[in-house]
Formats: sequence, structure tokens, C-alpha cells
Amino acid sequence: MIVILKSDTASQSVQELVTNFKSFGLDVHISQGSTHTILGLIGDTGRLDMDQIRMFNCVEDVKRIQEPFKNANRKFHPLNTVIPVKDAAIGGGSLTVIAGPCSVESEEQIITVARSVKSSGAKLLRGGAFKPRTSPYAFQGLREEGIRLLLEAKKDTGLPIVTEIMDLSQLDLFAEVDVIQVGARNMQNFELLKQLGHTDKPILLKRGLANTYQELLMSAEYIMAFGNEQVILCERGIRTFETYTRNTLDISAIPVLKKLSHLPVVIDPSHSAGVAEFVPQLSMAAVAAGCDGLMIEVHNNPPCALCDGVQSLTQEQFAALMPRLSRLEAALQEA
Ligand code: PEP
Ligand code: MN
Repeated sequence: MIVILKSDTASQSVQELVTNFKSFGLDVHISQGSTHTILGLIGDTGRLDMDQIRMFNCVEDVKRIQEPFKNANRKFHPLNTVIPVKDAAIGGGSLTVIAGPCSVESEEQIITVARSVKSSGAKLLRGGAFKPRTSPYAFQGLREEGIRLLLEAKKDTGLPIVTEIMDLSQLDLFAEVDVIQVGARNMQNFELLKQLGHTDKPILLKRGLANTYQELLMSAEYIMAFGNEQVILCERGIRTFETYTRNTLDISAIPVLKKLSHLPVVIDPSHSAGVAEFVPQLSMAAVAAGCDGLMIEVHNNPPCALCDGVQSLTQEQFAALMPRLSRLEAALQEA
């Protein structure tokens, strides 16, 4: 980090500032120009608040020369992180597809969908047991029973399961869950992220509706800083001025996140589009842009779904999409 001081700064103020930075365990390199003094801060500047430094009267400007995330940063970890989940390897070079209903509704529903998506080539089963709904009157998920039914579907099909945690108090129920999802609305629930940092399970971290790449990576950093390196980043569409689709899929997230970080990037085209009709094209676009995986909502009877039926593919539509994705993936490997 570089701190540029105002031209008339007295040497006593410079010394006070230097002492302040040293108290954070940093080394300070002072470079005295003809008009300005510039301080180069050497060491872990991740804990410093740039706005707070600007509050010193003698400070003209502050610039970061390194991102504030370390564990998630590709600069410190050039190779892609691969997250093994049973037979799947998320980030391992081939596309991993996670599929299943928005919510677990019944044993018959989850087992039917699990068998179907497995036979189409999905490697993981998704399904919400705890549902973050905008309305308190909407279906909130089967909760504990939903997790039990997911585990039944896992036993039946062998597919590992991904499901969302909404609160720390639910953590004990996730003992046999393979991947814990942190939903968009909880991306900055820092206490939850810290606790998930103490677990040994992969975390699928969804980008908040209005969060920047850096904020997403800082949330990943929370999990990693507390000891859990297995974080999967998920772009699920952001809020823009466009209302035709539920959210706007930010395709740029793929190259940018993969440039900044070594963590795998998964795209959720279902919550991005909000309508099933556009899910295949968005999936293809995400694969073309280099995502490591897709998470797609699939239902055995979308018109009767208790949550997100409009954006859910039928089992047949999902079965038709999978070979198209494989052909695209193969073509890209040759390109
Ligand atoms: C979901 O995956 O079912 C979900 C609620 O997603 P998001 O947090 O992205 O809205
Ligand atoms: Mn959903």
C-alpha cells in the first residue's frame, strides 16, 4: 500500500504516521520527493482501512497495490484449486453439473428427480431444505425433514448433495451433507462464514444480488482465513435495471474471478434467468466463457413446484441440454 502525503507535511506528522503504521507490524519505506513524501507500507496491509488512513490531515491519497484477499488470490496460489466431491472434481478441468429442484418437497419428488438428473449426467444433487423466501408466507422448506430426504436420495443414487444453510444453529444437521451452500442473501453473514471456516466441507458461496467481485472474494476469504480452503464461487445473476429476467447473469464474472482467484467458478443460470426458457442458452454461454460447473434447477413437475417452478427445467429438458453441453465442451477443448 502506498500513502501519499500532502506537500506541506511537517516531519513530525510524518513520524507520527510512520509510528502508527509500525504499530500494525508493518515496515515503512519513506521516499522523499521534491514536493511530496510517499510512504510505502510493507507487510500484511489487509487489516488496514484505507478510508481511515485518509482521515489523517496530512494524507492526500492512499492506493492499494495488492488486493486485500490473500488466501483466495491467484497471485499467491497460481494453480487452479480442485475440490473433490465423491466422483466429481470441481475445478478439475471438466464441467461439473449440479442439478435438482429448488426445494425438497417429498421423498417421491426428490428421489424421482435425483434418479433422472443422475441418468442425464449430473454429478451432484441440489435441493433446498431451508429456503430463503422473500415472503414469510411462502413455502419455507421442509427443513430437518428436507435434509433427511436428501440423504435418502443420496443413498438411493449415490449422488453427493448440495444444500443451503441459513443459520449457524442448523450446522449440526449438515454432518452428512457433501457441499454446504451459502445463498446470495447470506454472502455477507460474516459469523456464518467464520464458522463454516472451521468445517471440513466444501462451501458453495453464492454472490449476493448487489455485491462486487471483490466483496465475493472477501467473503471467500473469511471462510479460508478460518481454515477451510474448499470454497466454490457461484455467480447467480445480479440485480440490474433490467426486469425482463429475474436477475442479469454476469458472464464477466467467469474470466474476472478466474483471473483474480484460483477457486472454481460455478454458474447458476436458473436464478439468473428466472425463466426456464433461457436456461439452456445461459448455460451454453457460461460453458463457453470457461466456468467450472453449472447448478441448474430441475423439477419433475414444474407447474406444481412449491418454489421456483417457472425457472426449473423439466427432466426431459435437462436430459436434452446435457449432451449439448458436452458437445460444446469438447469443441472448446479443440479450439
Ligand atoms: C437457491 O439456490 O435455491 C437459492 C435460493 O439461490 P440464491 O441464494 O442464489 O437466491
Ligand atoms: Mn431456487
